[in-house]
Amino acid sequence: METPLTQHISFDRPCYNLRDYEKNGGYQALRKALSLSPESITNTVQASDLKGRGGAGFNTGMKWSFVPMNGHYPVKYLIANADEMEPGTFKDRMLMEGNPHQLIEGMIISAFAIQANISYIFLRWAYKKAGRLLTHAIEEAYAAGYLGKNILGTGYNLEMYLHTGVGRYICGEETALLNALEGKRATPRAKPPFPQVSGLFGKPTIVNNVETLCNIPHIINNGPDWFKSLGKGNDAGTKIYGVSGRVKRPGLWELPMGVSMRELIEDCAGGMANGYRFRGALPGGASTDFLVEEHLDIHLDYKSVAAAGSRLGTGTMIILDDHTCPVGFVHNLEHFFAQESCGWCTPCREGLPWTEKILLSIERGEGRPEDLQLLETHTRLLGPGNTFCALAPGAMEPLQSALKYFREDFEKHIDQKKCPWR
Ligand code: NAD
Repeated sequence: METPLTQHISFDRPCYNLRDYEKNGGYQALRKALSLSPESITNTVQASDLKGRGGAGFNTGMKWSFVPMNGHYPVKYLIANADEMEPGTFKDRMLMEGNPHQLIEGMIISAFAIQANISYIFLRWAYKKAGRLLTHAIEEAYAAGYLGKNILGTGYNLEMYLHTGVGRYICGEETALLNALEGKRATPRAKPPFPQVSGLFGKPTIVNNVETLCNIPHIINNGPDWFKSLGKGNDAGTKIYGVSGRVKRPGLWELPMGVSMRELIEDCAGGMANGYRFRGALPGGASTDFLVEEHLDIHLDYKSVAAAGSRLGTGTMIILDDHTCPVGFVHNLEHFFAQESCGWCTPCREGLPWTEKILLSIERGEGRPEDLQLLETHTRLLGPGNTFCALAPGAMEPLQSALKYFREDFEKHIDQKKCPWR
């Protein structure tokens, strides 16, 4: 966000405190926003075409526009979803550890746009350092008059609370997050009603991802056309992309939306590590479909990745190399998803452990030829429309694409009655 484009983002750089942030133009966007009408802020964000950076890519301004603004709802909430638990994804952690005030400023502007007076940051349990830095930054923002009563003398009030989760993946699903914040069992709720209308404690609520909110001050400062001009594919703005796996330089980079996979892997991550060959990649965390060599030149934007049969998701790529068993790789992911199923709906609760068990038996050389058909059936039964939330359908994405692109690896395990990589 405030880093120059294409700069490698380091976790070692010092955290911006309030003085550093203000010196670099921090909180100017808030001053500007408070002089505008809430509706015009929502219109600006909608016109910028900022899409949700948590993984789903829903238009942010459109989401805000669903919040009732007719005065019949005196209590509304704004929530930053900082429960970043998607495997391979660590972009929000970097944003919060590097510049917590950027998130806080984005939240205040967003809360003002929907006229919410209470806001929460729902933070992943393991993000201890981010928690410490955010606590300090929130105190600084209160002391400077950016939070609390009568913000900058405008009459607008906003309280901000940091809430730490207990380390469950499902809490990142927005309605499970709401139940967790209410002190209930963190299971997803049926949608509709969407939280924009009936969210926390039944009140209108916006839940936005950390990276999404960090874009807001820049859109207010520079306008929607500037933001759109930053993208080079089908989408607007920049994105924090990541690469993990056996590349020379794993990490995160802020890049124009729509860079190609090849640019990201070769120019930013330095290419594959010596002695390793690229076999495929999950483009946006574990709950996306594999892309393979033929896709290296596609733009990493929502539409292009979908056209290639996957999803951009969180934009933080996990690479599969030729020294790693694809069956073991997918088994590891399904183990995670089975463990993180909240148990609320039957297909997910029963289907994920069963899927994991089949994969484990194949990986051990105990698989049967009919297991591949059974796994394919699972990808349908646990797919979209058959479960309560996106967890199980997301878990099926790496599996269904591994069965498509790496089928011979599954077959070798069954034919040879062992893992060829061991
Ligand atoms: P979703 O598409 O159902 O919803 C995305 C957002 O748009 C939500 O805020 C929802 O309220 C809103 N929305 C969608 N349709 C709407 C409608 N018709 N009317 C009003 N609002 C609407 O996706 P989801 O289930 O919230 O999230 C799934 C995504 O989360 C996956 O794409 C996955 O990549 C991602 N994910 C991210 C992490 C992480 O750590 N960042 C973890 C797990 C999953």
